[in-house]
Amino acid sequence: MTSVIETKDLKKTYRTGAGDLEVLHGVNFTLQVGEFVAIMGPSGSGKSTFMNILGCLDAPTAGSYRLLGEAVKDLSPDQLAYHRNRYIGFVFQGFNLLPRADLLENVALPLLYAKVPGPQRKKKAMELLDRVGLAPWAKHRPNQVSGGQQQRAAIARSLAVNPSLILADEPTGNLDSQTSDEIMKLFIELNDQGLSLIVVTHEPDVAACARRLAKFHDGLLVEDSPVSDRRRP
Ligand code: ADP
Ligand code: MG
Repeated sequence: MTSVIETKDLKKTYRTGAGDLEVLHGVNFTLQVGEFVAIMGPSGSGKSTFMNILGCLDAPTAGSYRLLGEAVKDLSPDQLAYHRNRYIGFVFQGFNLLPRADLLENVALPLLYAKVPGPQRKKKAMELLDRVGLAPWAKHRPNQVSGGQQQRAAIARSLAVNPSLILADEPTGNLDSQTSDEIMKLFIELNDQGLSLIVVTHEPDVAACARRLAKFHDGLLVEDSPVSDRRRP
């Protein structure tokens, strides 16, 4: 079966005013369908750089990356955008919702980009909000709901295109531990339904909810093993 993600000897060098800085030194990583991986590691170890490459938001300097079996470097810019929008859902630490749009409109946005007609868009967005327990807040703007609710809306938005993979970079970084648990419960539920997930986190309690833990250090994957005593909040 095709892997969702396969990187081989992946490297990334940033060109800065002060010279070249290699921040990923050769990362080999595979994600199979239905896996749930937590990525941990100190600040500056390359986690976000790696996630940005996985999300096709940035290109590696060397090595290979296959997304659902396709060599990403062989895709045209249009194909790349299509793959990114169609197969990957993004969840960020700061939620990244549009402040002037209500939750329903925020969740419907990827469907607008995908040219889904208005009535269908609204129906699907409402179903997604319902799926994350936010139906009663559909008409609220982000600043009228809690951080946890904003992140739920962002997760609903990430699900709008029925992605194969969710990439979440420190999704609970702005949330208290109880709210973090609610978000992790939701991720576990989505993973139980077959969705593949990668979650970057600094919190051991969050990482313990995954099925597998990968650790970065100084631009290298130094550990990658199953989570033995998985936590289910
Ligand atoms: P993490 O997410 O693990 O904290 P990052 O991937 O954000 O780490 O950063 C890894 C290293 O790359 C850091 O030293 C950071 O300063 C550097 N870096 C990140 N983005 C850029 C950039 N756009 N230009 C130059 N250096 C960068
Ligand atoms: Mg980071």
